[in-house]
Amino acid sequence: MGSDCLFCRIVAGEIPATVVRETDTTLAFRDIDPKAPVHVLVIPKEHYADVATLAQGDPALAADVLATSAAAAEDEGLLGDGFRLMFNTGVYGGQEVFHVHAHLLGGAPLGPMLARNLA
Ligand code: AMP
Ligand code: ZN
Repeated sequence: MGSDCLFCRIVAGEIPATVVRETDTTLAFRDIDPKAPVHVLVIPKEHYADVATLAQGDPALAADVLATSAAAAEDEGLLGDGFRLMFNTGVYGGQEVFHVHAHLLGGAPLGPMLARNLA
C-alpha cells in the first residue's frame, strides 16, 4: 500500500505523529482530532484495510494490536475508570482511513455506545 495510505506513511516516518507506544509490529499514536481527553489510535505496522481483513488474514497480528491497546490504556491511566476500544469498519461503520486502527478512548465518561438508538 505504502505511499497512498496515510497511516503507512506515519509508520514510514513520512508524516509526523505523536507516538505513545511502539512494538515490532504495532504503533500507537495520538489522534490528530481527539474526541475525548485520551484518544489514541493503535495500528499494525503492516497494512490491512480493516479489522475483518486483519483478523482473518493474521490473527496473531490482531492480537498484537489488542495487546498494544491494553498497554497504552495502562500507560494513559485508563484501567481504573475504564475506556472504549472501537474499530470503525466500512461505510456503515464510518471508517475514513482504510488502514485498520483501534480507537482507544477514555479519560471521561464516554456516554452511550451510539449517539442514537437505531434499533
Ligand atoms: P476512522 O473514521 O475510524 O477511519 O478514524 C480516522 C481517524 O484518524 C480520525 O479520528 C482522525 O481524526 C484521525 N486522523 C486523521 N489523520 C490523522 C493524522 N495525520 N494523525 C493522527 N490521526 C489522524
Ligand atoms: Zn496503510
